[in-house]
Amino acid sequence: MDCDVAIIGGGPAGSTLGSLLKKYNPQLNVAIFERETFPREHVGESLLPPISRILEEMGCWDKVEAANFPIKVGATFRWGKQPELWNFEFLPAEQFVEEPRPAKYVGQRTRTAFQVDRSVYDTVLLDHAAELGCDVRQGLKVSAVKTDDDAVTGLELESGETVNARYYVDASGNSGILRRALGIGCQYPSTLRNIAIYDYWQNAEWAFKIGVGGTFISVLSVGYGWLWFIPIGPTRTSIGLVVPAEYYKKCGKNIDELYLQALGEEGIVRDRIKNATRENKLTTTRDWSFLAERQAGQNWFLIGECAGFADPILSAGVTMAHIAAQQCAYTILELDRNKLDANWLKHEFQARQTQRIKTHIRFGDYWYTANEQFKELKEFTLTLAQDIGLEMSPEAAWAWLASGGFIDEELSYGAGGYSLGAIKAMSDHLGSVRTESPFETNNVFKLDMTGASWKERADYAQGRVKQSQSYVRGSSVLPVDGHFDVVLGLLQRTSDITDLIGVLTSSLEAQVLDVASREEMLHRAVQVIEALVADGWVKCSYNPNRPLWTPTVKERTVRWNQEPLTLTP
Ligand SMILES: Cc1cc2nc3c(=O)[nH]c(=O)nc-3n(C[C@H](O)[C@H](O)[C@H](O)COP(=O)(O)OP(=O)(O)OC[C@H]3O[C@@H](n4cnc5c(N)ncnc54)[C@H](O)[C@@H]3O)c2cc1C
Repeated sequence: MDCDVAIIGGGPAGSTLGSLLKKYNPQLNVAIFERETFPREHVGESLLPPISRILEEMGCWDKVEAANFPIKVGATFRWGKQPELWNFEFLPAEQFVEEPRPAKYVGQRTRTAFQVDRSVYDTVLLDHAAELGCDVRQGLKVSAVKTDDDAVTGLELESGETVNARYYVDASGNSGILRRALGIGCQYPSTLRNIAIYDYWQNAEWAFKIGVGGTFISVLSVGYGWLWFIPIGPTRTSIGLVVPAEYYKKCGKNIDELYLQALGEEGIVRDRIKNATRENKLTTTRDWSFLAERQAGQNWFLIGECAGFADPILSAGVTMAHIAAQQCAYTILELDRNKLDANWLKHEFQARQTQRIKTHIRFGDYWYTANEQFKELKEFTLTLAQDIGLEMSPEAAWAWLASGGFIDEELSYGAGGYSLGAIKAMSDHLGSVRTESPFETNNVFKLDMTGASWKERADYAQGRVKQSQSYVRGSSVLPVDGHFDVVLGLLQRTSDITDLIGVLTSSLEAQVLDVASREEMLHRAVQVIEALVADGWVKCSYNPNRPLWTPTVKERTVRWNQEPLTLTP
């Protein structure tokens, strides 16, 4: 069997890749081999908002929305300094408007996520890939990957068939069959060694009902680990316990006893499952963070979980799988156009995936070290903090979090998908991150480009990879694009913050009619300035003859990579 692209695995990574390849080039011959026959159960149910945009791009948002999954508006945590619950929201819950479902991908729904039953979600996605023209073979395992040095030369299927393709993509999740065949090693950047124990429940009560179908997931610490509570359908809820593997070995209980003990001890979960029925599908899996040492080679790519994994505390795995698949699709399409250097395209793909996975692993570590609710695990979090070199002073924590730079090439300005403002808002609960703003004591913000050089960075948009300019200095990168471009232009004109905000505000008033959008854009520009300061691109000082300026927005919602500002001051 010959095809252009052979994809191993029909999970979210494989079906996203297949769908986007066919969307942008219907002539491509794309095959997806999936060893299971869907629907099949899978853990990883709490999604993040950036996925919604990719679903819309794939042309499958309406199908996912029609499945009537709960809408994730945020998360409730018992985590950090105090035992009290606190919320993190994608948009303020009280602003969530009650609207009928199924809804379109517009307005508030562009900021929310889904909580999904993966047996349904993955089936919707794989069927969609087939509808777009992918040759989807379910119940057919890839039994071997043939290689020659760094090239893949073919796949062998359980049926005895052989597959020859121009590109091979490993989307086989934790099997990593192609990765293993090529002998690609893995790094384990974190010393977290957790296991997860989970089951499904019918008719558990939701903690919150927001509008039509909206809710929060819950992440609740118990002294020796944490519980997730994720409604994944109108009546079905996923409840899991995460504990260090060491703790499980020493606790003297079997998996079932430990699971039920945790559910019984956590009052909130206990109340919510009072009238619920357990499905008795108890499953245990290890969830150790890792990163594959290579992500792309001569004619192959790794995407999704086979390329790396970050602890589930951030609910980011499926998001990273969708994003990697999207960037892989664009890279293959661009390789076929033959306009950009092939090595540069693969190098950019690899660098972007590596940075994303590493940042999430680092941010996951930070979450664990900042949790004082782990009564039996104090030693564990202390050791973890020492292992990663994280002293618990706010300055050290801030510098450590930023050790890949607060600004990354995806035009974001935060860490682990969280904006700087969100990290600061969380630090009220987690502690140990510097929270003061540079605007509190400074009014002069001066660009410092000393020692910077230029580099071409990949800009992934609308099926294309484009070359955009960015500055680099050491490990810091400064994209000259979107909102960064706007802010850099302003900083070249003035370093006085009051003047700068004045110019920006009047440009916004001239170009953007809607007040809420103007405020949002101003807020983003301010975040960019703060990220530039944190990464050393802007030096700030105080001029006693000029006033200080105070930002008006105090952030309590999560903001993910946003569309670039289109403003031209
Ligand atoms: C305990 C735990 C909790 C998690 N919680 C979350 C969460 O809340 N939110 C989140 O976003 N992520 C979470 N994740 C991560 C999430 O599950 C994964 O990141 C996600 O499923 C990765 O998608 P994928 O498409 O790469 O792989 P998968 O979804 O695993 O798909 C891979 C597919 O490849 C197939 N396959 C494997 N080998 C072969 C072969 N040889 N031939 C053919 N087919 C093959 C498999 O059958 C499978 O269908 C969690 C993970 C764990 C372990």
